Amino acid sequence: MEKDIFCKIIDGEIPCYKLYEDVDVIAFLDISQVTKGHALVVPKEHYDNFLSTPAPIMHKVFDIAQRIGQIDIQFLGAKGVNILTNCYETAGQTVKHFHVHVIPRYSKEEGFMLEMKAGAEGLNLPVIAQTIKDNL
Ligand code: AMP
Repeated sequence: MEKDIFCKIIDGEIPCYKLYEDVDVIAFLDISQVTKGHALVVPKEHYDNFLSTPAPIMHKVFDIAQRIGQIDIQFLGAKGVNILTNCYETAGQTVKHFHVHVIPRYSKEEGFMLEMKAGAEGLNLPVIAQTIKDNL
């Protein structure tokens, strides 16, 4: 199987602006810099996305994402931070290797926009809630 781009970064085959590294996790600047300091936190072991990552590794990734978000506020002058992870193409995932985006926000108008439109009309909320509840 062809290595994905993050596996290549982890293996040192592609350069990156590394922010952090331990035995399980690496963090580096996202090449697109949606906003100044936009970072990615990635498990070194390959998992396709958040949903298929074992909990202990997922927790480690989010620990580092939280720390970078705190640093964005304290040292980069960010006024807010978006922490997000896309799972599967339909949700916008382009690199099939679990990663968490840490996107510092300096104003509401810049690079990154997340719009949540209300879509509850016509949905059977009791049935939807029950389906999720029954499977938790
Ligand atoms: P996603 O769309 O959630 O899968 O995000 C993938 C991210 O990986 C995008 O924001 C890309 O800009 C970023 N990316 C792709 N290639 C590289 C690279 N070589 N170094 C750093 N970030 C990258």
